[in-house]
Amino acid sequence: VGFGCNTTKSTSTNNYSTVVESPFNAKIDSLMSLMTLKEKIGQTVMYSGDLTVTGPVVSNNNQKYVKEGAVGAMLNVFSAKATRDLQKLAVEETRLGIPLLFGYDVIHGYKTIFPINLGLAASWDLEDIKKGSRIAAQEASAVGIHWTFAPMVDISRDPRWGRISESAGEDVYLASKIGKAYVQGFQGDDLSKHNTILACAKHFVGYGAAQAGRDYHTVNMGQDELWNVYFPPFKATVDAGVETFMTAFNELNGIPATGNKYIFRDVLRDEWGFKGFVVTDYFATNEMVVHGYAKDRKEAAKLAIEAGVDQDMMSNANHLYLEELVNEGQVDVELINDACRRVLLTKYKLGLFDDPYRYSDAQREKEVIYKPEFLEVARKSAAMASVLLKNDNKSLPLDKNQTIALIGPLAKDKENIIGNWAAEGDRKGKAISVHQGIQEYLSDSKIVFAKGCEIEGEDESGFSEAINAAKRADKVVMVLGEDYDMSGEAASRTNIKLPGSQTQLIKAIREAVPNKKIILVLMNGRPLDLSEEDILADAILEAWFPGTSGGYGVADVLFGAYNPSAKLPVTFPRNVGQVPIYYNMKRAGRPMNPNNPKEDYTSIYLDSPNSPLYPFGHGLSYTTYQYSDITLSSKTIGFSDTLSVSATITNTGDYDGHEIVQLYIHDKVGSLTRPVKELKGFKKVFIKKGESKTVNFDLTVEDLKYYTADMSFNVEPGEFQIAIKGSSDFDFKHKFTLE
Ligand code: BGC
Repeated sequence: VGFGCNTTKSTSTNNYSTVVESPFNAKIDSLMSLMTLKEKIGQTVMYSGDLTVTGPVVSNNNQKYVKEGAVGAMLNVFSAKATRDLQKLAVEETRLGIPLLFGYDVIHGYKTIFPINLGLAASWDLEDIKKGSRIAAQEASAVGIHWTFAPMVDISRDPRWGRISESAGEDVYLASKIGKAYVQGFQGDDLSKHNTILACAKHFVGYGAAQAGRDYHTVNMGQDELWNVYFPPFKATVDAGVETFMTAFNELNGIPATGNKYIFRDVLRDEWGFKGFVVTDYFATNEMVVHGYAKDRKEAAKLAIEAGVDQDMMSNANHLYLEELVNEGQVDVELINDACRRVLLTKYKLGLFDDPYRYSDAQREKEVIYKPEFLEVARKSAAMASVLLKNDNKSLPLDKNQTIALIGPLAKDKENIIGNWAAEGDRKGKAISVHQGIQEYLSDSKIVFAKGCEIEGEDESGFSEAINAAKRADKVVMVLGEDYDMSGEAASRTNIKLPGSQTQLIKAIREAVPNKKIILVLMNGRPLDLSEEDILADAILEAWFPGTSGGYGVADVLFGAYNPSAKLPVTFPRNVGQVPIYYNMKRAGRPMNPNNPKEDYTSIYLDSPNSPLYPFGHGLSYTTYQYSDITLSSKTIGFSDTLSVSATITNTGDYDGHEIVQLYIHDKVGSLTRPVKELKGFKKVFIKKGESKTVNFDLTVEDLKYYTADMSFNVEPGEFQIAIKGSSDFDFKHKFTLE
């Protein structure tokens, strides 16, 4: 596969069927020898449990199609009883008794909800992410869910785009590691166990790069960006053994992803050796008609299966047209055999042919949902996800002997706190609010509450009560942010400031109590423009939407029971006009600004600095860390050498803490220009106050490789800069040469 990729609407039918070797091949062969074409097509069809299927011909109930063997998978079926009942139909009332696959968006927890994914990414804690996904798999599998539509590994560099909340942020290296951790957590080490589920890497590909941050929109991307930025996290999930892939809604360079043969056949299967199956996004086959790529749904069905897309989620295109297309000689039957085979293989791997009911277990459902130990893990995750953006004059942690004014529309909230994509989480009852979390540390007489305003709307009638509360307290804690549904799917914003009158509320309080500390706790699903808040508040804790135990986790940080350690996985801009902005941009060619060597002299805004408000990798602690200069094992390395790089980090403050130590390089000259900085490693280390730790990274040429001008994954000799730091905001001082 080279840069000169074939992105034309090709109808050639070579190299379709790549029979995947597995211990189940004989069984699959024998089952498939009994299947009619209709039944094979059935395995390529997914319907929803909560909606009837849509289409020009079919509008009847799902049960009928299950009984006919016309459905291979279902989504959105939510109880052990419901999945068991449908499974019974498939197993006992169809001709061949092939079990169904049940899928659902278990994105950041099933019932026990963890922080939104962008928050989980801020922990940089791969073990915690794995643990959380294991818990999600245990809860979901008990209800009969075999398959989660996660992780989303779309690189996201546009905070206007609502789905940035579901991502691991802007960085290729971090997102790749995190994608792998999710896959390992969901799938476990043995898929045949009843509490492991299939993962799904989505959305292939480029979805995060939609023009102007508008969801589903056009993506035009050159090969450098595609191969060096957007592909690698997907490749990492393939290497981690991910069982399924989902197509993206967007078109890529003129071809809708769902009909894009280049990405699914040439890259995913041929180049990366992916052995699982590909499902469309919801209704995406059909959308190729709207895109103007297929003339009708029938042509769309043909384009999708030819592109290497095995299962049709909700478009009802395969069900209606594949058989006809085969009979007319328009679609090679081998394509259907291949797709059917891939779907059946996952069912064998899950053990569904041995015991189709093992996942739908009402007793297990009762035992595992909201298990106290799961809620404890979620509490810790919330603490580890919270980023201390600013903390002037040690405003935090709070003092248990002081009175606080607790102000803001999200202070007592139990509904938004679990974030988007948490439909099965309890939005009303189960979540712990920040107020409840604070009650663990302060008696009610020390908490003066006032809502102040709503999240949205311009009403300021609650301001005076909030001001009074602030006057009666020693410190002010304001819990502000977005509604949960202001991020997520189809939730883009052109204005990324705090919505409604919330910033006005902070201003009013700042004016009323100019000498009191104002601590801002934020819940939101994207980087916000906090340029005003940064001036108004003494401390800012970015808590994202922290999940079911979120209030506890946030309070643990506020009172210092957990010393914050999270670092931003995504840049916070100064204003929406800087977007897209990310730490590892390329450099323009115009001369450097002598006053600020980080900026290009002529590539500046007239009305804003180029630098962000808070950079990638930034996050404070209650203690301080001092980084010594790094030591390199050698100034020059050969192609088969390992470079050992280390730095000593000293905890110079008053608290023990975890520091996320980051390794960056810059490849100075390449056959393709290289980003100004690239993360190449990180370690979360615990350092006691007053102590020092030496942190070591081993770099090999593998770590320096990228897709070069001739499209080989390669490394080019020359000079590299290198640094070990606590954030991406620094200037390189060290270098080495590869010869
Ligand atoms: C989303 C996917 C999701 C699917 C099923 C789509 O609208 O884009 O991410 O997995 O729905 O719920």
